[in-house]
Amino acid sequence: MTMFTVTVDAERCQGHARCLAFAPEVFDFDDEGYAFVPEENQRFAELPENVRKAISSCPERAILVAEEPAP
Ligand code: SF4
Repeated sequence: MTMFTVTVDAERCQGHARCLAFAPEVFDFDDEGYAFVPEENQRFAELPENVRKAISSCPERAILVAEEPAP
């Protein structure tokens, strides 16, 4: 089985908040208006549809997905 880890590349994020609009339960914003994924929200056995949409809608391609075998 595979685990997916979702993070935001802070260097690329421009703070459009599209990710938050699609998946407010996953993404959060820091005090400067940039997105991040809190540690407890990062890992998925399967990527939910709204998270996929957030990823494909990010204009900066700042949302990163790492795939790794589940332990
Ligand atoms: S949609 Fe992309 S660029 Fe915009 S806030 Fe989210 S991660 Fe950052």
